[in-house]
Amino acid sequence: MSSLPNCPKCNSEYTYEDGSLLVCPECAHEWSRVSESGNSEDEKVIKDANGNVLNDGDSITIIKDLKVKGSSSVLKIGTKVKNIRLVDGDHDIDCKIDGFGAMKLKSEFVKKI
Ligand SMILES: [Zn+2]
Repeated sequence: MSSLPNCPKCNSEYTYEDGSLLVCPECAHEWSRVSESGNSEDEKVIKDANGNVLNDGDSITIIKDLKVKGSSSVLKIGTKVKNIRLVDGDHDIDCKIDGFGAMKLKSEFVKKI
């Protein structure tokens, strides 16, 4: 039970767990213990429908007809998208599609080429 890390702020060893958080009783600092596996908080891995890791600049195809928000157009299954950019959020892919312009897509509906 004594494997809790010291407080990253004041280095107190009296930290305790509160749910998924760690709490320091001395300086009242609270933090999540998720960062145990390295401090790469903004290194979010985004995967396509097949579980392949996507990167900036990848080309993808769309695997499902998708309605375009605010228009009656539909992005057809099989549409190719080049040079994607990964972003944070619900729709995690930013891209430009010929005939549609700038779009945001969900990684679960695409497949890496
Ligand atoms: Zn502390």
